[in-house]
Amino acid sequence: MKIVIHGGAGSRKGSAPHIHDALKEIYLKAESCLKKHSALDTVIYAVTLLEDCPLFNAGTGSQLQKDGRIRMSAAVMDGKSEQFSAVLNIEQVRNPILIAKALIQEKDRILAAECATRFARAHGFAAYNPKTKERVKEWKKRVGESGMGTVGACAVDRKGCLAAATSTGGRGFERPGRVSDSGTPAGNYANAFAAVSATGIGEQIVNEALAAKIVIRVSDGMTLLRAFKKSFHEVRNHHYHMGAIGISRLGEVMVDFSTEKINAAYRDKKKALVVLS
Ligand code: ASP
Repeated sequence: MKIVIHGGAGSRKGSAPHIHDALKEIYLKAESCLKKHSALDTVIYAVTLLEDCPLFNAGTGSQLQKDGRIRMSAAVMDGKSEQFSAVLNIEQVRNPILIAKALIQEKDRILAAECATRFARAHGFAAYNPKTKERVKEWKKRVGESGMGTVGACAVDRKGCLAAATSTGGRGFERPGRVSDSGTPAGNYANAFAAVSATGIGEQIVNEALAAKIVIRVSDGMTLLRAFKKSFHEVRNHHYHMGAIGISRLGEVMVDFSTEKINAAYRDKKKALVVLS
C-alpha cells in the first residue's frame, strides 16, 4: 500500500510554507483513506482535496485563460481495468476529477467543453464558480504559466491494484480551446505494472508522451527507477520543463522533475514522510 501526490512543478516563487502544510495534510488524509479503500477511490479522493485547496491550479484556484474564463481538465486511469476517462476544458464545476470518475462507467469516456459541463449537470453536479481573487489578480497582470500547480496522485492498494488521477486549470493565460496534457495519457496513465501523473508544460509532456511512456517501460521489464531515469534523461536532452510522480505494483515510488522544484509528498523507504515544496 503506497501513495504519492503532487501539487505541480515549476519555478521557486510561490508560497512554499503554505503549500508544504497543505500537501502534508492532504497526504495524511489520503494515506488513511488507502487503508480502507481501493487505489482508484484513494487517488480520486486525494485529487478532490487538492482541487478544493485554492493554493493549487486545479478546481478552486484554477488559473484563468486568455479570455478570463476557467476551463479545467482532469483524468483518471484505473490500472486494474486499464480504463482511462477524462474531461477536457470543463467549466463551472467544483471537482473535475469527479466528473472524469463518473465517465468510467460510460461508453464515451472522454468529454470536452460544453458537452462535458452538460454531462456534469445531467449527473447532479451543481454549478460552481472556481475563480479566486488571487487568480483574477494574476490574470489582470497577464501572468501566464505562473502557478504550475496542477495536482495528481498515484497509489497502489492492498490488492496490488494501481491508479492515477490528475487535474489542472491549465497553463494559465492560454488560448481558449487549448487542450492540456492532464486530460490525456501523456499526463496520466496506469496499468497493472505502474501509475504515473505528470505536470509541467503540457505541450512538452505530450511530445514526450511522458506518463504512458514511463508506465510502458515498466510493463516491458524496467524498474520504475530505471524508467524514470531514462525518460527524464530524454526530457532534459530536449530542455523541457516538467515533473512526474509514479508508483509501481512492487511499491517503488518515484518523483523526478526538470523544473526548479516540484510540490510532492510521499513516504521514503524508511517510511518517513517527505514533503517537497
Ligand atoms: N500540465 C499542465 C498544462 O500544461 C500545467 C501544469 O502541470 O502546471 O495544462
